[in-house]
Amino acid sequence: MTELNTLFQLFNNLSESEKKAFLRKVKGENPTTQSKSRTTCNCAYCKSLHIVKFGKSDKGEQRYLCKDCNKTFTAKTNTILYKSPYSEKVWRKYINCMMQGMSIRKSAKECGINADTAFKWRHKILDSLQSMHDEVKLDGVVEADETFFALSFKGNHKKSNFSLPRESHHRGKCTHTRGISSEQVCVPCAINLNGLSKSVITNLGKPTVKDLRKVFSRSIVESSVLVTDRNSAYNKIASEHNLQLVQIKSGKGSKGTFNIAKINSYHSILKMFIIYNFRGVATKYLNNYLIWNNIKNYSLGSVEDKEQIFADFVFTNRFSEKSHDVSKRVAVPV
Ligand SMILES: [Zn+2]
Repeated sequence: MTELNTLFQLFNNLSESEKKAFLRKVKGENPTTQSKSRTTCNCAYCKSLHIVKFGKSDKGEQRYLCKDCNKTFTAKTNTILYKSPYSEKVWRKYINCMMQGMSIRKSAKECGINADTAFKWRHKILDSLQSMHDEVKLDGVVEADETFFALSFKGNHKKSNFSLPRESHHRGKCTHTRGISSEQVCVPCAINLNGLSKSVITNLGKPTVKDLRKVFSRSIVESSVLVTDRNSAYNKIASEHNLQLVQIKSGKGSKGTFNIAKINSYHSILKMFIIYNFRGVATKYLNNYLIWNNIKNYSLGSVEDKEQIFADFVFTNRFSEKSHDVSKRVAVPV
């Protein structure tokens, strides 16, 4: 009944024209579905749409010439498939393995690639999906709260130029049992009642308003209802972005029709995914695993639809960096 009450309450707050638009949407008229079609090809270098066909590449792929920057390219230039010795079919199979949450070893076997390649692909794919995740906008009723992960330098030891800033600890364990220390990575998370979610590493230790802004400023649509615990930093965020704030005392459960059950469950699933599935992940890769969790466990649509949408996005998204060495990223991306 709670969600129904929420809907009624939100519906009553709408203007007459918004109410009409809402009813049209409920009836299935003019549905807004995510486009499955590939974006039109634009210049791989300057993004101009002013391009012409320009013969074929050695592999028989269509080449294009940009009339603005005079460079030539194919649909694959600077995408994940560019210069890859493996076909799109193998990459697609790998994305399928990822959507099932398969381990590196298992997905490598499934796709006939080695484990090193499988690890690199995992992060290339997730890096590529970063820009899609950046664009996610949460509206309606949005529940938000921070969660924390122990700082982890897993995997960094092998790099000769890396020295641990402190003694290494067991995965998932916190060095301080009370309060929040600077050895904990803060991850503010938000999820709306439709199940769309967002989460990003912002800082070490307790977050300030400035830290929370990094996640919430651009990703919550104005006039949405923001439901949080009693952290006063959210007052500032809500007033800056014209959000209706509902704060619930921790342990209190609910306030009227609102509660923070969805964000609490989100945190549990995220912890399971990171700590039990992968036995903890290095902090430098954590943002990628956050995206993976959002895509696999939260974004809208059937598994097949999601797989299709993500694969199409990944295969057409062009990286701006020339080299893409996943292991060289900074240890603590805050
Ligand atoms: Zn160009």
